[in-house]
Amino acid sequence: MFNRRKFLQSSVFSSLSMAFGKKVLAGDPGAGHLVTGNPIVISTWDEGLAANKGAWEILGYNGRALDAVEAGVRVTEASLNCCVGLGANPDRDGIVTLDACIMDEFANCGSVAFLERIKHPISVARRVMEKTPHVMLVGVGAQEFALSEGFPLEKQKLSEDAQRTYEQWLKKSEYKPVINIENSKAGHGPFAPAQFDNGQWNHDTIGMVAMDAMGNLSGSCTTSGMGFKMRGRVGDSPIIGAGLFVDNEVGAATATGQGEDVIRICGTHAVVELMRQGHSPEQACKKAVERIIKVKGEKAKGIQVGFLALNKRGEVGAFAIQKGFSYALKSNTEEKMVQVGSWY
Ligand code: ASP
Repeated sequence: MFNRRKFLQSSVFSSLSMAFGKKVLAGDPGAGHLVTGNPIVISTWDEGLAANKGAWEILGYNGRALDAVEAGVRVTEASLNCCVGLGANPDRDGIVTLDACIMDEFANCGSVAFLERIKHPISVARRVMEKTPHVMLVGVGAQEFALSEGFPLEKQKLSEDAQRTYEQWLKKSEYKPVINIENSKAGHGPFAPAQFDNGQWNHDTIGMVAMDAMGNLSGSCTTSGMGFKMRGRVGDSPIIGAGLFVDNEVGAATATGQGEDVIRICGTHAVVELMRQGHSPEQACKKAVERIIKVKGEKAKGIQVGFLALNKRGEVGAFAIQKGFSYALKSNTEEKMVQVGSWY
């Protein structure tokens, strides 16, 4: 039985190992085994720093990774000047629609998509997982389920930033579903450069994966999807195996960027399977990126996709098509942003 004393011993051992420059490895990666080097949480983009802190409120007290990944991304969903949750960019009809999914160490998973006027889609996804025999609910059905579970129906109103950006977008109403090319002139790509120019916009998704003190893995992913998307469009983020995948024997991965291209290769499932074959998290993410490059050819120059992964040994890694992808990491010894290698 795991207890706080063992947890402290593990944390001290982990710190010492890191201090002496040793790689921290798990002895036996079986479920429930105490793995040194954990807990650990990683999440996509700058918002990940605050989200990881939220997750640490649970992980740091010997809590379960599932609770941590839900609590972590709720921080981002609640932040109205962010790109995730109800403060985010709307679709091209001016309505914010949200997608989210969650997965635990037992391969339980839940997901919602095309959900309107609910502040915390990640928590609705968790209820789908825990209270229904299904994995995914969408649209009106997902909203009705959320209301029946006591989630409040929020006003249908854009945040000030989203309203301003939407009005700018309406002037041309160009439908260019290409996102997240961080090294474009505007800083964040041709799809919605205005948001970045006014300093408010950063990214549309947060994906988080974590390992708790027991060595168990979970993950979460939540998004408003592409800004000014077609009404009804759903990306990779709520799709298990695309935006998020967890296999407690091997590792967990999440994705961000052009969702259509992540779905095409079952991106995060591919990353986890590549880790199962022995690749490190970074190698696995790179190989998944290479699959997209192979499928897209020259067109890959115009898109961004980033993968982020954690294996059962507590090793992390990431890779992206374009420069500019970063992730936030928090463990007992570190709290930092990490810049990610890229194909281009
Ligand atoms: N993957 C998300 C989507 O396609 C967007 C993002 O990661 O920024 O909806």
